[in-house]
Amino acid sequence: MCTGNVKVTVWNEFRHEKSNEAVKKLYPEGMHAVIAAGLEKTGGFETRLAALDDPEQGLPRDVVDSTDVLIWWGHRAHAEVSDEIVKRVQKRVLEGMGLIVLHSGHFSKIFKTLLGTNCSLKWREVAEKERLWNLEPSHPITQGIGEYIELPNTEMYGERFDIPTPDKVVFVSWFEGGEVFRSGCTFTRGHGKIFYFRPGHETYPIYHNPRIIQVIANAAKWAAPAIIKVDECPNSAPLEVIPEKNVDFGKAGIVQESAL
Ligand code: ZN
Repeated sequence: MCTGNVKVTVWNEFRHEKSNEAVKKLYPEGMHAVIAAGLEKTGGFETRLAALDDPEQGLPRDVVDSTDVLIWWGHRAHAEVSDEIVKRVQKRVLEGMGLIVLHSGHFSKIFKTLLGTNCSLKWREVAEKERLWNLEPSHPITQGIGEYIELPNTEMYGERFDIPTPDKVVFVSWFEGGEVFRSGCTFTRGHGKIFYFRPGHETYPIYHNPRIIQVIANAAKWAAPAIIKVDECPNSAPLEVIPEKNVDFGKAGIVQESAL
């Protein structure tokens, strides 16, 4: 249960930053480091960095079990994430851990597992303008954001986004090329809150934008667990005394002719 600072683990596959000079220039320590620094600056968080090439892919059991909210950025290495780690994270989300999936994480194993659909979409990379419209100004995730966020250059994601109907769509994006997209969506799975947030293509300085960080910070506070509850399927004793029933188990539930 979350009482003080929200314990956030920022997970990043951390590959583009090592292999692409333009990305390295924007995010020399990785996108996860910039996001974590943004949260620390906002206040109210204890952050931890995790990456695909770390031991146990950055998510050993003690890390997952001591995380209130997991932030996930992945793209080209989705297939390298082990099924064991996906199961571990899924179980913890169902128990109450929050999960924020960013941008190309729409195709991550964990997002697809939790949502149960293809999570496919349209995309285009021509550095067009995006305007994210705030549809839910009273929602905790949009506090301090105003009517919209404008990003001068982004990769386009367009509908149809193959996701189950979200609990809430808090942002819808308009793109210069004409498409629209449900860019901020909330879901609940078990006791866990999930937020999908679209911005974050690696070749643009999206996570250096304080308003994008504000949304992620708001979402991390919103997604912090209300409870952590380990799943069980118990055989349960009655709360009241139930008189012994004289039931012929072979015929239970069958209405006898004589009783009609
Ligand atoms: Zn992208």
